[in-house]
Amino acid sequence: MTRRAKIIATIGPSSSTVEMLEKLIRAGMNVARINMSHGTHEGHAQTIANIRQASKNVGWEVGVLCDLQGPKIRVDKLEEPLELKEGEEWVIGQSDVQEKYPEYKNRFIPTVYKDLVKDAHAGAHILFDDGLMEAHAIEKDRDVLKIKIVIGGMLKSNKGINLPNVNVSAPAFTDKDRQDLMFGLKQDVDFFALSFVRKAEEVQEVKYLLHKLKKHTPIISKIEKPEAVENIREIMKVTDMVMIARGDMGVEVGNHHVPTIQKRLIGLCNEEGVPVITATQMLESMTTNSRPTRAEANDVANAIWDGTDAVMLSGESAAGQYPVEAVKMMDNIVEEAEKLPKERPLLRHMDLYSVSASIQVAASIIAEKTKAKWVVSVTQSGNSCLKMSRFRPKVRVLGCTNSKQVMRKMTLYWGISPFYFEENEEDLATLQEQMIDTLKERNLVATGDKVVITHGDGKFFKQGSSNSVRLEIIKEVPNESKKESLKGKSETLQQEIPGGRIILDTSVCASCQNCVQVCPHNIWTVEGENNETRINVETADRCTKDMECVNKCPTGAIEIIDTDL
Ligand code: PEP
Repeated sequence: MTRRAKIIATIGPSSSTVEMLEKLIRAGMNVARINMSHGTHEGHAQTIANIRQASKNVGWEVGVLCDLQGPKIRVDKLEEPLELKEGEEWVIGQSDVQEKYPEYKNRFIPTVYKDLVKDAHAGAHILFDDGLMEAHAIEKDRDVLKIKIVIGGMLKSNKGINLPNVNVSAPAFTDKDRQDLMFGLKQDVDFFALSFVRKAEEVQEVKYLLHKLKKHTPIISKIEKPEAVENIREIMKVTDMVMIARGDMGVEVGNHHVPTIQKRLIGLCNEEGVPVITATQMLESMTTNSRPTRAEANDVANAIWDGTDAVMLSGESAAGQYPVEAVKMMDNIVEEAEKLPKERPLLRHMDLYSVSASIQVAASIIAEKTKAKWVVSVTQSGNSCLKMSRFRPKVRVLGCTNSKQVMRKMTLYWGISPFYFEENEEDLATLQEQMIDTLKERNLVATGDKVVITHGDGKFFKQGSSNSVRLEIIKEVPNESKKESLKGKSETLQQEIPGGRIILDTSVCASCQNCVQVCPHNIWTVEGENNETRINVETADRCTKDMECVNKCPTGAIEIIDTDL
């Protein structure tokens, strides 16, 4: 993978089958997000099982992010959508009080939030469905809030209700969140996101709970309330990651404030080394169109240039008509945006007191100066790689671990490609040799390449032990080991196309699927148990000979002969 920033795709009805998930992974999805605001535990368990199956089939680790609903106020279930008209008077209350208000029989908006009437006040501004409809509160009755519609529309079940100037009394971590968190732990998810966080204590409460349960799942704090923006420095001290949840943020603070907040939050997170995700409506029009607008493409690229660690798709991949195209598009935009040189954090701004942080930074610089092919950062907990990621290394990094769980945690780390390496009880020198052999077997290095390795000098995988940097020059790649790793792949495939020929040397192909991702004409396909890349004979004659696949192939396995030239 050449892209450094990561892609999160929300999984929903459009994308939850194993087949679709495989396509999303091949298109570039690093993390699959499950939104606990919708669906049932049974349904989510099936989706998570499908994600794991698809990841196994493709041979690529994918993280699972369980996004807890938080104190989101929602419309309750409706038999049919309600038509709100400007100037009309309606009431909002819990479903079970509806019969007490027969005069509002056809103008009753049921809500799931029991304290709405207690929290709201006359004059409060009320927004429905991400601000598409608007009302203001006229007065409180005992069980309902009387409102006047300012901007009307069709209100559907489950849509959000925002009260921007109201102090909502619900705790950030609700009873439903607790049940969903326990479900997520049972499912061994890789990240939890907390919605509507307001202050650091709310994040800490969940961290304490996880600690008591002896779990270390990283917490992502979703910043969407104005209070959270104010308290961001305190929140950053306790959270593992931050998400700029632009959907609810836009409703709470006004869309015109979102770009400035985004830029400021990303800057602060980069400074403090807290990974940050930019979310919501990034490619919104792809929910129904196969291409995004220019403005959306710019939005994704600008988030990358702002310094975001990851970008996220919501409805586009969960319920849209083009989930795979949306991930592919995001992948292409990010990869292009990353080609522009970007300033790295200054060394003097980095906390290099810890041995492991200085080792990681030193390794990045050595790799860059010696034009190394890879940095291999051996890690037991993923922490060394997080420190490396913060420095925005220019040379690609393999986060080498013996734990699949740590691999999945690293799926959100900027610039880190998780890499599995099984440690046995060998001495350090033998382990290093085995590691180099693994790189050779996977065609990740060629003779003469330089590789910078960081590790501890005791046991290979021991948390916090990183204290050594080693620069290795790859000696001849022995034919024997190459042959062994390429069993059954030793053929050159050729396909005639109008005005030329496509050649694929399968003995060199690393099955990285860069060509599959880059080709809009599906000229490349993946086959068999080992996911081998092949020429798609059905579509080969659509090849435009633009050489994108040749340029993206890391091993030189592809040749396109253009006889028209
Ligand atoms: C958001 O509001 O931007 C967000 C990511 O949260 P949700 O999708 O849960 O509303």
